[in-house]
Amino acid sequence: MDIIKILPENISNQIAAGEVIQRPASVLKELVENSIDADASFVQIILKDSGKTLIKVIDDGIGMSKKDLRISFQRHSTSKLNSSNDLFKIKTKGFRGEALSSISSISEVEIHTNQSNHKLGNMIIIHGDKIQEEGVSSIEKGTSVNVKKIFYNVPARRNFLKSDNVELKKSIDELHRLALAHPEIKFKFHHNKTELFNLPSNNIKKRICSIFGNKINEFLLPIKERTSVANLDGYIVKPDFAKKTRGHQFLFVNNRFIKNPFLNHAVVSAYKGLLSEEFHPGYFIFLSIDPSKIDINIHPTKTEVKFEEEQSIFAILKSSIKHSLGVFQITPSLDFNNNSIIETPYDFNNKKPNYPTLEINSKFNPFFKSETKDLNSSIGLFEDNIRETNLFSENFNFKKKALSSIESQKVFQLFSKYIVSPLKSSLIIINQNRAHQRILYERFLSGITSKKVISQNLVFPIIIDVKKISLIFFNENYEILKSFGFKTELKKSELIIKGAPSGISHNQIKDSIENFLDLNNAEVDFNSLSQADYIAKNLAKSLSVKSGVTLKIDEQKALVDDLFACKENLLCPYNRKIFITFSEKEIEKKIN
Ligand code: ADP
Ligand code: MG
Repeated sequence: MDIIKILPENISNQIAAGEVIQRPASVLKELVENSIDADASFVQIILKDSGKTLIKVIDDGIGMSKKDLRISFQRHSTSKLNSSNDLFKIKTKGFRGEALSSISSISEVEIHTNQSNHKLGNMIIIHGDKIQEEGVSSIEKGTSVNVKKIFYNVPARRNFLKSDNVELKKSIDELHRLALAHPEIKFKFHHNKTELFNLPSNNIKKRICSIFGNKINEFLLPIKERTSVANLDGYIVKPDFAKKTRGHQFLFVNNRFIKNPFLNHAVVSAYKGLLSEEFHPGYFIFLSIDPSKIDINIHPTKTEVKFEEEQSIFAILKSSIKHSLGVFQITPSLDFNNNSIIETPYDFNNKKPNYPTLEINSKFNPFFKSETKDLNSSIGLFEDNIRETNLFSENFNFKKKALSSIESQKVFQLFSKYIVSPLKSSLIIINQNRAHQRILYERFLSGITSKKVISQNLVFPIIIDVKKISLIFFNENYEILKSFGFKTELKKSELIIKGAPSGISHNQIKDSIENFLDLNNAEVDFNSLSQADYIAKNLAKSLSVKSGVTLKIDEQKALVDDLFACKENLLCPYNRKIFITFSEKEIEKKIN
């Protein structure tokens, strides 16, 4: 019995589509690449529902003839290759003739195109490989491709799509890559009628800034290298702007974004000694290589490339980055224990809150008036434990009575950094910044659970010019910010902050919120609980009172009171010690 048959074209196309088109972002990439190949100088992208309903790409490129339009969506139809020899000198983004056929086999496609400057072109509608309609169209020179209802006929793939936010982020990531590879092209990007990007034609440095915000500008170091193997251009990011995510890592080969762990390692190794392990250097590197010395035909999405001289390229990359870091005097001997970069906002990789699981009386306040014997001995125990840095094994049981305010206690500020106060038989030195971080962090988190948050109206509302992209991130996290005590209002591209949590300095709000909304560029992808925790930590850090700030006596007392009303008061949200104590004995020992 014969059982082998040739698959019908619609099935084989759907199978092929699975390789090229995984999600709306892959459609976006393929369509924009076609526009770039068509010499467009302006590309407009419109998404509806993160591309799940509509992905539309309009360009002002060379357009297609009526006949070309008809065959453009057939499998293996391309204008970019004539002979197999051409495979070794590819300068275009596409060449496999697969994208339009793949896309049209899993969605409803409508293309309008015009090669001339007269406002008359052609159009075609295809549903799952079948032409539904053909005709003329009044369209300017260029091409407009509408892709509707992606995966409408492949429910399994449609179900596989992630949430709207995740899918939108993936599309934005693709746009970042394409827009960085082609800063000379103007891009506009709309999502559900909101303009997310408007990137004018620019040089690469300005393009980086219009995508990632002007702040990155001062951290960019140029690199440039001319060799017989490859030319190297672009920018690397100074170590002090390094991130815990890889959101700023871009390697392009002949203006095509690629992923290459080996070459990424070349960059990372050039930064050796400048970054602690959990940080990733940022880079925007452009390699130009003779197309005959690379193979980009090893993967359907063409994000992987094989290099003939990979080892040499590794060496060139590493040495020129080292050179650039050296020329711009980034000293390779930072003390990580004292450097602020180590005390960073977040731990992505290790999402579980990693406080030691100590059981400690939350009401413990060392500033008690000594009233009970228990307490005295308990404090002794407490201090002993600090000495042995064995804080986390004991269960301190203080009586509620012990909780008393510091009001009658003496406090003073030391080096504008520490709050110092005598206890019954010891001296406590509190790091003001870490204490405040802990206080704010717990206040924010309790706002989420209790929904009872104390917010203060601002006399002068703070206005932030939301970079368009941040709008998404803001919308995503609006509820969280609200539960922390921020009252906000969006007006066009302005974010107006009308209220803020109590107990913070108002002149830090603007920077903190701006920095926070900047994080959208990181590849943030976490579940909602850790997201709230992460934001709480981040904002607690940026809004906390810093070292070097002089505090009034009332403020010092409030800080101490608030700290010892916290559930956890030994460690800041980043697990660093908040205070130390010296017992009378210790002091005596030192003095003798
Ligand atoms: P490839 O890009 O690999 O050639 P595609 O399936 O993406 O394959 O496109 C098929 C052909 O359709 C292209 O080779 C090109 O000639 C034509 N085409 C597609 N999009 C456009 C566009 N935006 N402008 C002009 N021509 C286009
Ligand atoms: Mg293509």
